[in-house]
Amino acid sequence: MEKTNIIETQGATKIYTSSELTVKAVDEVSIGVKAGEFVGLVGPSGSGKTTMLAMLATLLRPTDGRLLIDGQDLVTMSDRERTRFRRQKIGFTFQANNLVPYLTALENVELMLRLNGTNGKTGRQRAEALLTRLGLGDRLDNLPAQLSGGQQQRVAIARSLIHNPSVVLADEPTANLDTERANQVVGIFADLIHEEKRAGIMVTHDLRMCRYVDKVIQMVDGKIARVVTERSEIDLLAGSSEFDRLAPGSTDERQSPASLSSPRLKAPIPAFAGGD
Ligand code: ADP
Ligand code: MG
Repeated sequence: MEKTNIIETQGATKIYTSSELTVKAVDEVSIGVKAGEFVGLVGPSGSGKTTMLAMLATLLRPTDGRLLIDGQDLVTMSDRERTRFRRQKIGFTFQANNLVPYLTALENVELMLRLNGTNGKTGRQRAEALLTRLGLGDRLDNLPAQLSGGQQQRVAIARSLIHNPSVVLADEPTANLDTERANQVVGIFADLIHEEKRAGIMVTHDLRMCRYVDKVIQMVDGKIARVVTERSEIDLLAGSSEFDRLAPGSTDERQSPASLSSPRLKAPIPAFAGGD
């Protein structure tokens, strides 16, 4: 039996208009993502990846086209319905992790449950288990300021999964991580999406991370340029990456200024549990 799509877009289009200029950031994009399917969204800077994710996260309304999650039409929902829907059905991490500075790692993750009125003892246990799985078992009571950029990013990933969302969206979740940790984090993220049967989309500029996804969608100038579904082709894409020339932990010019200013690791880390 053909599985139905959890995420589905039909001709999704977003045009930004300002006084001087209009930009067609997303141009008639149609995609489908099933339960337990993890999709990599790749493409050059400015190709519309973040705009696409923001529309799916119900943070941005499309100019045209349809967007459906769990069969529900995101376009026709009122703002109030969208907020409620977002809290219950969608988990997301964006490049800026937006952790609450005066809450601990554990409290930041539990906050999602509190917003939905579903926190409690089992919620706390699940939050602890998720953070531990992401290598932060000894950091539960730390404030974001006491965590490295990479650790904060992992808290944000735990927060995006805690409320059992149907859909998980991540924009460059490895931007602040060294190579080895990026592999570990995306590997666990992929496992959780597969095990818990969520529909996941990860935007990444690092093609090597595509080894963890089931499908690669490449965007160019707001349009889908290529969809790769064959395992062998995905692995080829992940292996042939230009990033292979960079040693683990070396500085990547495409990283954001914020991550460049944080202390960088000089060598690969042998174990996952320590601080970075
Ligand atoms: P990507 O994430 O692939 O780098 P974006 O979705 O951020 O791409 O941007 C796609 C295009 O839309 C770019 O040309 C960008 O400059 C433009 N853009 C993004 N956000 C806005 C905005 N709020 N107002 C106007 N133009 C925008
Ligand atoms: Mg972007």
